[in-house]
Amino acid sequence: MRTIGLIGGMSFESSAVYYRLVNEMVRGELGGLASAEVLMHSVNFAEIVALQKAGRWDDAAARLGNVAASLEKAGADCVLICTNTMHLIADEVAAQVSIPLIHIIEETAAALRSADCKRPLLLATRYTMEHGFYVDHMSALGVDVMVPDADDRTTVHNIIFDELCAGNIYDGSRAKLMDIIHRARAAGADSVILGCTEICLILDPTGLPLPGFDTTTIHARSAVDFALLEEKVAGKNAA
Ligand code: GLU
Repeated sequence: MRTIGLIGGMSFESSAVYYRLVNEMVRGELGGLASAEVLMHSVNFAEIVALQKAGRWDDAAARLGNVAASLEKAGADCVLICTNTMHLIADEVAAQVSIPLIHIIEETAAALRSADCKRPLLLATRYTMEHGFYVDHMSALGVDVMVPDADDRTTVHNIIFDELCAGNIYDGSRAKLMDIIHRARAAGADSVILGCTEICLILDPTGLPLPGFDTTTIHARSAVDFALLEEKVAGKNAA
């Protein structure tokens, strides 16, 4: 089994979900008491948020690039940035390692395309919804993302940072997100990207009025597929 390297802590609420998912998926694949080989470096989210707010993306890239390099040195065979937002600097982080960076946008685009979804609503942080790196990357991969209007973007961003990343889940906020999804469906959205790794804490992707794509689960699944590649090939050859 290959070792999964997780850059976590952004926030730790979602990193805990990643940790559980990769382990549950490996146990599901291999059975018994099997679990994932994982190295996680969990950063102090307050420091990252300060860099985000100041627009100091180069400093954030240097910080996460160092973390990625340390995970590789420690024996990771791949690295995941466990947040959509910080994929804004994914190229810079990837440049610091020789192991693959499993990219959340690319994996999510692949999942959308294989479900034939072409016009997903994006629920994410303001950075992810507004900086272009996400929508442009999706567009290059053939996915035409729908971004909420300015008021709704503020609502989603505040729910993420003020509530979900702080460990608070409120029914009223769930209702607000559902309302945004209903209106997006009326405007032509054919699916929803839970494009922030904490949104799965408040929305069940299978309980939405449109097909839901949870980036946390998709990303974790891709990591496990990478980690178990040799085991799966061996299993097929034995069958
Ligand atoms: N985990 C969130 C995301 O997926 C937001 C936290 C962050 O700003 O990195 O975008």
